Amino acid sequence: MKVVLENLTKIFPSRDKKSQNQVVAVSDFSFEIPDGQLVGLLGPSGCGKSTTLYMISGLQKPTSGKIYFGDDDVTELSTENRGIGLVFQNYALYPHMTVQQNIMFPLQNLKGKDKLSKQQMLDRAYEAAKLVQIDELMDRKPSELSGGQQQRVAIARALVKMPRVLLLDEPLSNLDARLRLQTREEIRRIQKETGITTVFVTHDQEEAMSISDIIVVMKQGVVQQIGKPQSVYDDPANLFVAKFLGTPPINVLEGKVLGGKVYIGDQAVMSVSGVEDMDVYVGIRPEGIEPAPDGVFECKLSNVEVMGRDASVVSTHAAALSPVIRAIISSDIRVDAAAETVKYNIKPHKFFLFNKETEERICFEVK
Ligand code: ADP
Ligand code: MG
Repeated sequence: MKVVLENLTKIFPSRDKKSQNQVVAVSDFSFEIPDGQLVGLLGPSGCGKSTTLYMISGLQKPTSGKIYFGDDDVTELSTENRGIGLVFQNYALYPHMTVQQNIMFPLQNLKGKDKLSKQQMLDRAYEAAKLVQIDELMDRKPSELSGGQQQRVAIARALVKMPRVLLLDEPLSNLDARLRLQTREEIRRIQKETGITTVFVTHDQEEAMSISDIIVVMKQGVVQQIGKPQSVYDDPANLFVAKFLGTPPINVLEGKVLGGKVYIGDQAVMSVSGVEDMDVYVGIRPEGIEPAPDGVFECKLSNVEVMGRDASVVSTHAAALSPVIRAIISSDIRVDAAAETVKYNIKPHKFFLFNKETEERICFEVK
């Protein structure tokens, strides 16, 4: 089932009646989520991810714009009639019910031609439980389960009605690091197995990058970029997207373009064509700089952290926006940690320029 968002906008009136400050939570969001894909909605807290998800679910009505499931306009349809499965950060299970009763619960409200017999409900609940691998815990109460198991029950409960669309709002946030990783792989497996079109909301870029077919990066209610995770990482549309994706984060420095050369301070670090003289932000991914005796970009060396396979060269530069410049290199490469400075060579495909005023990416060719 494809899901189409058409100029979706949500404006909340200000809480204080006297003030005119409305909140534009989501602004003119248009996107067609392809059938059977997992879309990661990604952005910092408050950027409008949950509001978007709630509009898709019907829990909130858009101020303007339309939502289609397939060819059906569902904008005015109630949540119950949309055929969606919802999973929230807090599992919201009924504490007095067993796992089985929790999973079966949504089926008990089915009426008319959809009404199921007790046996059918039990069978459906068992199938959903098996899918998330909790079929052996059916008689337990939620309090007798780990956080990860509880979240699986919540997912099974969302799947039991065989939804057309699965909506997950930060479903892993309450889990510890190991469970988060495991449950995220589990969600991906279940999504692939069932082929349900899924929207997965998270503020965690690594989570979104690893689980999604497509990511949508949002900032203050406005979509910044949509694409395959790797394409967005390799080709960020603006400084915000470049900074939001990647750990450790991209190194950003003030620089300028002058006569076809990019300068950081008084060092010419790259020859480019197609850019006029201007002030810029220079972005260099940590894997895009490598110490070399004849390197073009010299920084003050702070220290070298060897972490098994990789090493992290930590240095500083007066033009940098962050306290340190980080290079991630293979730990096979030896760097003299006692030296005062380090010289780097820069990989052109890991090197980006951004307009200093608009923060939009500037395209150029390397000479
Ligand atoms: P996210 O899920 O990305 O953290 P939300 O969608 O929850 O962000 O919120 C987006 C913006 O809308 C925030 O500024 C938030 O304060 C505001 N907001 C969300 N819900 C309401 C509401 N019911 N009333 C007023 N403002 C709201
Ligand atoms: Mg939220």
